[in-house]
Amino acid sequence: MTSLEVLQDRLDAVHSGISDAARQAARDPRAITTIVVTKFHPAELVRQLHGLGVRNFGENRHQEAQAKAEELRDLDIDWHFIGQLQSKKARQVRAYARVIHSLDRPSVVDALASHPLSIDCFVQLNLTDDDGRGGVRDADLERLTERVVATPGLSLLGVMAVAPVGEDPRAAFARVRVASERVMAIAPTARFISAGMSGDYREAVLEGATHLRIGSAITGNRPVAG
Ligand SMILES: *Cc1c(COP(=O)(O)O)cnc(C)c1O
Repeated sequence: MTSLEVLQDRLDAVHSGISDAARQAARDPRAITTIVVTKFHPAELVRQLHGLGVRNFGENRHQEAQAKAEELRDLDIDWHFIGQLQSKKARQVRAYARVIHSLDRPSVVDALASHPLSIDCFVQLNLTDDDGRGGVRDADLERLTERVVATPGLSLLGVMAVAPVGEDPRAAFARVRVASERVMAIAPTARFISAGMSGDYREAVLEGATHLRIGSAITGNRPVAG
């Protein structure tokens, strides 16, 4: 198990990295939400981080997320679902997630409709040419955004993206900023940007990210999937 001292040191290092980048961008670091991504890590690590004050956690696989949320239901946690979502599972994710970052298909949007409670969500944009990656194609961003806006029970926060391997992250996040403006032209309040991971969160902050999804810089390396 990772000691609390080590976890605290990593949290401090990430928070100071965020503060530095925010200062450089003349932004208020308090307006930036850090989501600690705990995929592949045991619930016990989430509990330790919660003890250090973390409240926002991210998971990318439904079964694992559901099990952790169940095991940790005594804690006040905001779970963020950040992985590819199947329409068959979408409703189940709603049961524990506070925010869904990965809306990328009409079928998923439709599956989440008509729930009595509203859920916060992001439309995920694919920054690559590979359709196998999560995210809607750039050309379909407006259409999907319109569908989310028209769907009861979904509250659109903004756009989410992962910087492609091999592209300068700053340039990738500048593209996300442009996409965010396109989303806001349809949904003016959807001004949030979920972007930036352990290796590129500084660049994301410089380009306006409001929600950072940070895993290994805080949790350490992920255990190999069992
Ligand atoms: C795993 C994951 C992260 C965190 O990645 P790290 O490099 O460990 O910070 C962020 N976003 C998504 C969508 C992920 O799947």
